[in-house]
Amino acid sequence: MNVSDSVVRLLHLRLTQISELTNQIERGPKQISAAEVVVKTAKQSLQDCRDAIKQKKMEADRKQLQQREREVKLRDLAGKMNAAKNNREYQTLKEQIAADEKANSVLSDEIFEASEEVDALQSTVPGLEERVKLAEEEKAKMILAVEKRLESLHVDLKRVQSELAELECSLPSEFATEYKRLVGSRGMDALCPIDGNSCGGCYTNVTPRVLDRLRMGHPCPCPSCGRMLYRPEN
Ligand SMILES: [Zn+2]
Repeated sequence: MNVSDSVVRLLHLRLTQISELTNQIERGPKQISAAEVVVKTAKQSLQDCRDAIKQKKMEADRKQLQQREREVKLRDLAGKMNAAKNNREYQTLKEQIAADEKANSVLSDEIFEASEEVDALQSTVPGLEERVKLAEEEKAKMILAVEKRLESLHVDLKRVQSELAELECSLPSEFATEYKRLVGSRGMDALCPIDGNSCGGCYTNVTPRVLDRLRMGHPCPCPSCGRMLYRPEN
């Protein structure tokens, strides 16, 4: 295989660059999704708070209605008590009035508590609205930044891909076949610099014959893992 190791080194560099650029391109949409999750969570918190306010208000309204109905009943009972024909009837109505008045007083406390809870919830709304606004601003900024970065990453990727294609076209056919087979199955991991006396991929010591060939500048497959070995720069 009459290919100098500087060519293999360059092939490996281009393959690595393509892999890194592709990873960065794939990261873009993930960053936007993460920003979308933050917006969704903030909106949900705001909605939950508004729902809780609505629930509490309905609860208070229901209790107020109950209270008013009982007041009407109390007036009716008071009329009946005043018109009571005997002491027993008077006493029964008096006890009923006392019980209903007590129940209404409990309701008053509960209505007051519910309105306090509504106020407390209302006071958190502006903060929650602000969180939604900030999250949406962050998301918009993220989309712009990602779009801008993706644009330049795609330009870089196209450039490196054409540099690689040009390099691959210049390979002698015998080497090109072996290179394509290796890269086809292992990607950029198919090529690997030698690390001292061992393969930089599988860390196995290579044979003196392989070392000799590498020293002469000829790339050589690792006898152990099959990666195409080359000398690192310097
Ligand atoms: Zn190896």
